[in-house]
Amino acid sequence: MSPPLSSLGEFGLVALFERAAQARHPATRVGIGDDCAVLDLGGLERVLLTTDLLLERVHFEAAWLSAEDLGHKSMAVNLSDVAAMGGEAVAALLALGLPPGLEVAWVEGLRDGLVGCARAYGLELVGGDTVSAPGGAVVCLTVLGRAPADEVVLRSGGQPGDRVLATGPLGDSAAGLHLLRGGGAGLAPEDRAALLLAHRRPEPQLALGRELARRRLAHAMIDVSDGLVQDLGHICERSGLGAELDADGLPLSAAARRLAALEGLDARDWALSGGEDYRLLFCVPGGLAAEAERVCRGLGLEAAELGRLGAGRGVRVRRDGQVSAPADQGFDHFGPRGAR
Ligand code: ADP
Ligand code: MG
Repeated sequence: MSPPLSSLGEFGLVALFERAAQARHPATRVGIGDDCAVLDLGGLERVLLTTDLLLERVHFEAAWLSAEDLGHKSMAVNLSDVAAMGGEAVAALLALGLPPGLEVAWVEGLRDGLVGCARAYGLELVGGDTVSAPGGAVVCLTVLGRAPADEVVLRSGGQPGDRVLATGPLGDSAAGLHLLRGGGAGLAPEDRAALLLAHRRPEPQLALGRELARRRLAHAMIDVSDGLVQDLGHICERSGLGAELDADGLPLSAAARRLAALEGLDARDWALSGGEDYRLLFCVPGGLAAEAERVCRGLGLEAAELGRLGAGRGVRVRRDGQVSAPADQGFDHFGPRGAR
């Protein structure tokens, strides 16, 4: 009997397709395995292509996320992948599966969130598809972007000795999810509002990604969608390197720290393996780290230096004086936290 998908995990499953997709079209510069595919259609620019699927009950509970938040979020998570390549977003296609009993007002909310986010980041909804989906809402968005050919930043470009930087705060989205699951009784209303906003309304860091790429400050880059450990792990794997992360240097918000204290939890876990922060994680040659930090500050963002790329394989975390390879590698759709 063929083993179940859960034995492969999400990444083993993607690898099934990656291995089969080897007959490359001459336009394919980067195929499966980065935040966007990179295509060469001629000229000095590269085309960036990415898609993300959000499913009711897997990615969102209708009661936790308004339709407008969901529209915003589905656009934002795609734009975050374009940001991670150093690109600019151009156009989006929206594929919708909707239960026939859904209220029109819900779809109008979804539209407003989606189109509002697109407008804020300068791209346009240019098409899509709509079908009936009795089992629950399905929102699949595909975004096309572009970047100058010599400025595209891949996961695979990391060099030994590169400083690993990330914009913060990290972990707020997972802290917000903790609140939605019923935690956080007694948390101050302004902390609650800030953490829920981080979960519901992530903002893609397109301006930062573009600026780091234009100034050639990043050897490698990824957006933090599945937790810092897992996402840095992707850079390590694609760059053939290892990394050490300093958990004491994590950019945690005061609100997340206060929630963790209240619950007897460690906010560092939300940053390391929580996911859905949609901040950028990038690897900068040692001599350029100060300039990269200046670029972040110029855009009103704070960058934290979290460690270095080096020899070896995988991500080790230095925490309270101990170095270890973390057991919780972040979100896996076919792993224990993903299966529902
Ligand atoms: P991200 O979190 O940046 O959206 P994912 O972890 O979802 O990236 O995907 C990792 C890589 O695998 C990406 O390059 C993505 O395009 C590719 N991928 C995911 N699912 C499939 C699939 N079913 N077929 C082909 N490629 C896939
Ligand atoms: Mg990504």
